[in-house]
Amino acid sequence: MRTNRQSLSPRSNETGESKVSIRTCVACREPAEKMSLVRIVRRADGEVCVDASGKMPGRGAYVCAKKECIDLAIKHKRLGRALRGEIPESLIRELEAIVVNNDAEH
Ligand SMILES: [Zn+2]
Repeated sequence: MRTNRQSLSPRSNETGESKVSIRTCVACREPAEKMSLVRIVRRADGEVCVDASGKMPGRGAYVCAKKECIDLAIKHKRLGRALRGEIPESLIRELEAIVVNNDAEH
């Protein structure tokens, strides 16, 4: 199987010791550690879902687990555009639930 060579860091010389995967939020466009972002995947069958494991195959998009970013990603259709698909209502609720849970921790 050929590995899908995603964004090789253009600045790899600066952060030689860093092993964390950096992804960009579709809403605020801030780079962040993959672990701190929520991954949303459009699977081969067209279904869009939240990927809690981060390993689901399919076209993925990342968004910060923050209300502002999730709102922006949904309302400005950034998520749908990034995934090239429709974002179902159920997924929006799932994302909102993640935000609520995160807020409760603080
Ligand atoms: Zn963000």
